[in-house]
Amino acid sequence: LLKVRYLLHIVPFPDRSFDVACQCPSLDLCNDINIVDRMREVRMISLKDHMGPFESVTYFFERAASRLKIGNDSIELLRQPWRELRVAVPIRRDSGEIGVFIGYRIQHNAARGPYKGGVRYHPRADADEVRALATLMTWKTAVIDVPFGGAKGGIQCDPHEMSEQELNALTRRYIQNISHIIGPNRDIPAPDLNTNSQTMAWMMDAYGQLHGHTPAIVTGKPVELGGSYGRDAATGRGVVFCLEEWSRIRKVDPAGSSVVIQGFGQVGSWTARLIGRLGCNVIAISDQHGATYNSKGLDVGAVYEYHRENGSVKGFTGGEDLDNDELLELECDYLVPAAVEEVITVENADKIRAKAILEAANHPTTPAADSILNDRGVPILPDLLANAGGVTVSYFEWAQNIQQFQWDEERVNSELRERMTAATKQVATRAAEEKVSLRESAFMIGVERVERAGTLRGFV
Ligand code: NAD
Repeated sequence: LLKVRYLLHIVPFPDRSFDVACQCPSLDLCNDINIVDRMREVRMISLKDHMGPFESVTYFFERAASRLKIGNDSIELLRQPWRELRVAVPIRRDSGEIGVFIGYRIQHNAARGPYKGGVRYHPRADADEVRALATLMTWKTAVIDVPFGGAKGGIQCDPHEMSEQELNALTRRYIQNISHIIGPNRDIPAPDLNTNSQTMAWMMDAYGQLHGHTPAIVTGKPVELGGSYGRDAATGRGVVFCLEEWSRIRKVDPAGSSVVIQGFGQVGSWTARLIGRLGCNVIAISDQHGATYNSKGLDVGAVYEYHRENGSVKGFTGGEDLDNDELLELECDYLVPAAVEEVITVENADKIRAKAILEAANHPTTPAADSILNDRGVPILPDLLANAGGVTVSYFEWAQNIQQFQWDEERVNSELRERMTAATKQVATRAAEEKVSLRESAFMIGVERVERAGTLRGFV
């Protein structure tokens, strides 16, 4: 009777009812995952996505933890990042003035190995965003089964407004300021949004000035400095391996399908260049300045050259210009968000006409949008799985650096394929067994492995 009263109650007052339910454990309703889940979903949709990134990622974690029936002690331990460092990063600007930027390194969990995660340079890289991405890394490294924990770093800045000399100085000062909490056996940074192999070279050099030559301190370095062959392309290549395996599982031939890609940086441009190997047709590509569209298919090589020369895909003559928001709503077989987080929200989830979504970016879909798309039957290959190729080859690079040995590209790509294929199979199988979405399945696998490692270590 109580459950029925609650369900009736949440319709007019979704938000209040949820809070009341959580405050009244004596009602014993919080043990009913379906009711609590549904109330959460309704609440989120009613709040129009007003969750911060960390709260959103925590929502997915808590849902997986409930399904796994993980104890409260472990949940408390796994929810919070272990360490958060905020640093001021002062540099002398080209103008002669001092510019002070705010940087973060947030370490979420290291039960399965040293902390691992990229560093992004972006005006919105605040503590909440970096915390959310650090948490995601913990589950991602577990899903793809590499022996790392999860961390993330960021500096709040607009790198497009900075000279190379300023970026070099910023990177070095940031590394100096966080050097006491990183190390090849502690925490290993990598590239992310607006950082690349050059940034990693500066990081390695700055760390080396303090601690001696230490190539394993960062991954994603230039090959000439101990980087791994295939690292640049690894995230995009991993997206393609993931789609290939998922197609095999569903007995669907990806050849001839249409693909729309948001973002044309390291991840998006490699995905665009490699997905043609499956016979897919890329019909639209965007970057932060605009988008280009050709219903018959874009010549991706030519778009790449055009982007290299002009700094944007906008104005590409082999396609027509398109608004960035319109791109997400194009009819296609696969939509690949490969830019920034939270681009698929309650505002556009109903308008998305893709038949499936491949999350190459981190956290591109808010929980409420995820729920809407699930209800609509649009499958999502989640970030935890789809973009794990980058951290996988980062693991290969770290292992090569420690052994002072270099693999050839063929070996890197074939080991990457093996891991992406195995993880895709595991996530798809678990989703079918538990009758949950691919995202829930990936979270369950990740959370389960991290919890197990923590328990074996004696954390709880
Ligand atoms: P990048 O800086 O190389 O490229 C980002 C691209 O997104 C650029 O083309 C930029 O113009 C575009 N962009 C930015 N805002 C946009 C907007 N609002 N609309 C359309 N395009 C926009 O970054 P990256 O390394 O390719 O990372 C992209 C995403 O993939 C991020 O979410 C990152 O966390 C994730 N990721 C990266 C890696 C990696 O190995 N680099 C690994 C896993 C996940």
